Amino acid sequence: MGLGFYHSRAQNLNEITEIADGSKILVLNYHQVDNKNTSLSINISDFEAQMKFLADSGCVTITPDELYAGLNGEIELPPKPVLITFDDGYIDNYKNAFPILKKYNLRATIFIIPAFTSVYPNYMTWEQLKELEANGITIESHTLTHPKLEELPDDEIRNELLNSKTLLEEQLGHPIEFLAYPTGTYNLHIAGIAQDLGYKGAFTIKYGVVDKGSNFFALERVPIFHTPTTMKDFYERIAWRQSFEEFGWIKK
Ligand SMILES: [Zn+2]
Repeated sequence: MGLGFYHSRAQNLNEITEIADGSKILVLNYHQVDNKNTSLSINISDFEAQMKFLADSGCVTITPDELYAGLNGEIELPPKPVLITFDDGYIDNYKNAFPILKKYNLRATIFIIPAFTSVYPNYMTWEQLKELEANGITIESHTLTHPKLEELPDDEIRNELLNSKTLLEEQLGHPIEFLAYPTGTYNLHIAGIAQDLGYKGAFTIKYGVVDKGSNFFALERVPIFHTPTTMKDFYERIAWRQSFEEFGWIKK
């Protein structure tokens, strides 16, 4: 299945039946969209090709709220649900990714570092975030300053998780209930603090797809980066994840 999918460059995701029937949810994780060829970036043309692929495949982009409600059985998720996420809130998300998302009518979620927002030129401003939210993009928390949470004492972990939530809520005017752990690292203790502070779920960089067996505070994602063979790797990553599961390489 995986090989056939890649080699044929199938025009839809029907070959991946668990995605097609909505029982597994693909959560893509991006950082920068520009032509810097750095480890965190993906070229603009590659990003557009990937978004076109998702749109042509009939994927339905969902929000973290819909993911949560779907996993809880409160709503029925559409077939081929995909959650497109970006970490850190780089300015190129606004300049380069946003026009492409709009062009293909795709929604996305960006995890923001509020202490960097409207402060560093490489990161978006509050005004830009508000414009994104008015156009189908969901903003959530990536902690206040992007520290390595597991190295911090409890009171600082609480500050990072709570102050980012509060600041984003004040600026954007809606509840912030989802978190992406900086660098993807977490443990049960940090997850417990996030839950105490009112978060409903948190995303890791653990490679895999989300399903009803997923831990809400250790949600899997599929990271997409620039490589010498970016598009080949993209197709492999989204098509082969089932094989990874079969081999037991992911999940807790
Ligand atoms: Zn980050």
